[in-house]
Amino acid sequence: MLLTLRHFFGGKSKREIVPVKAENYFESIEKGTNTIQYPKQKLPVPEVGRYQLEVEIDDCIVCDLCAKICPVDCIDIESIKATQAIGQTSDGSTKRLYAAKFDIDMAKCLYCGLCTVVCPTECITMTNQYDRTVYKLGDLTYSFSDMSPELVAEKKEEFEKQQAERLAAKQAALKSKEGGA
Ligand code: SF4
Ligand code: SF4
Repeated sequence: MLLTLRHFFGGKSKREIVPVKAENYFESIEKGTNTIQYPKQKLPVPEVGRYQLEVEIDDCIVCDLCAKICPVDCIDIESIKATQAIGQTSDGSTKRLYAAKFDIDMAKCLYCGLCTVVCPTECITMTNQYDRTVYKLGDLTYSFSDMSPELVAEKKEEFEKQQAERLAAKQAALKSKEGGA
């Protein structure tokens, strides 16, 4: 597969013309003046390039902002409320929700980068990985949740139990108030 720097920078960078007989002809890959033998050779990617998304799930507070702003709805998040604070992210934000599901369909993603801009903890980022190859379309859906189905069920149950206990306590308090009146 032959690629030139033009593929990566949209043809906007001005290229220096190097004659094929020039001594430095094969040294000028960085300038995009010749083709390369991809994937054995790779062109440098720009620092601000937007490629495959990555999520540092330990730093995610499951706020859903990235999913809400995504123009093509390719982020699918399911949260479970925790019965108490479950820790802190590396920037000190308190975590109160579990990410039961955090999938990104990179086949749908249009690489706009909006999700990375709105993330309050900066845990969703664009990497410099652009050439992942898969055989099935479904394999382009990346799952970032680290919860097993058993743990998801357990945490759901914990929350439901807490809610039931709170409701029962509320009803008991109301009943005793009514009885005292
Ligand atoms: S880069 Fe854009 S399209 Fe892709 S997941 Fe983020 S918001 Fe959605
Ligand atoms: S915006 Fe950031 S913190 Fe919020 S759910 Fe998305 S990745 Fe997690």
